[in-house]
Amino acid sequence: MKTPRDLLKEARELTRHVVPADVQPRLDEVAVLDVREPDEYEQGALPGAIHLPRGNLEFSVEGRIPDKSTPVVVYCATGVRSVFAAKTMGDMGYTDVVEMVGGFNRWKDEGRPWRAPETLTADQRNRYQRHLLVSEVGETGQLKLLHSKVLLLGAGGLGSPAALYLTAAGVGTIGIIDMDVVDASNLQRQILHSMDRIGERKVDSAKKTLTALNPDVDVVTYDVRLGADNVLDIIDGYDLIVDGTDNFPTRYLVNDASLLKRIPVVHGSIFRFEGQVTVFDPYNGPCYRCLIPEPPPAELAPSCAEAGVLGVLPGIVGSIQAVEAIKMVLGIGDPLVGRLLAYDALEETFRTFKVRRDPKCPACGPDAPPIVIAEYDDLCMPHTAPPLK
Ligand SMILES: [Zn+2]
Repeated sequence: MKTPRDLLKEARELTRHVVPADVQPRLDEVAVLDVREPDEYEQGALPGAIHLPRGNLEFSVEGRIPDKSTPVVVYCATGVRSVFAAKTMGDMGYTDVVEMVGGFNRWKDEGRPWRAPETLTADQRNRYQRHLLVSEVGETGQLKLLHSKVLLLGAGGLGSPAALYLTAAGVGTIGIIDMDVVDASNLQRQILHSMDRIGERKVDSAKKTLTALNPDVDVVTYDVRLGADNVLDIIDGYDLIVDGTDNFPTRYLVNDASLLKRIPVVHGSIFRFEGQVTVFDPYNGPCYRCLIPEPPPAELAPSCAEAGVLGVLPGIVGSIQAVEAIKMVLGIGDPLVGRLLAYDALEETFRTFKVRRDPKCPACGPDAPPIVIAEYDDLCMPHTAPPLK
């Protein structure tokens, strides 16, 4: 029978070792894995360390470090658990794992840089428990969400479900722009609002609903019309825009402004029984003008105020927008960049279509003139100069 000492000796012989002095200059090049318990980690850790307690290693490490050829430095407090962790990772197929001799204690004693990592509170740990259980989100991802800022254009049919789910997911700052008041005819689909809010500003009603759902979230409201005069100021500082607007002029305006500020837009639209979602990631994928260079004639482009829509349809499309927004913030999965998802509620089908950047795009093409944000004109083209009054 083997004693713990035998096991350690055996693991040590099968593991490669480095001293803190060799790790410090390579901090930017390697994945640093901290396998201590949460209470130890919270007291202080190496800058940028990935935290994964030894007990969760086998089942979680592939989610946190998917590429098994990644150079990894593993450490614990003194260099015992890290030896076992490094050996296990070798057994799991990781090819470049080293263990840091002396662990965090030696690192700290030698006066090397460390930080007290930001962590979730006990309440947050409870609230986002189901996110923490998904390794692609985890505590790091949840903190990312809590630090993210998402701007919703419209507190209507698409904005309602998107806002509710993004708030529930813990997106730390949610901006909402809408200049309407709640009307009884909205309640068939705009689930942010309710009977007792009729006549209230939509942004105020939205803020009440969202704040009641999750106090972690800062809801910033803009009770204005989005126009050329304010669009750049409003979108500035947001990581992402969720577009739930229902008219062409605003979509073109938002497109041009988001290209200038390089802010991705999660676009959604609905009509009768059909919905569409795509993600415009500036200069990494097509933009709205690549897709729709010119607006259709007015008689063929009814706005939502005029067109009918099945009440639950925006619930589905807006929820997909929320999914895409969360994926973009976390940097996980394949967002709908360069793909258009079309949903047909009557057929109950989802189809995706490839969409490409248009080399002749007047907004994001290589020969496009510099974008100047100005009010929509009949041509709906990006202006190279402010329009004549
Ligand atoms: Zn374009």
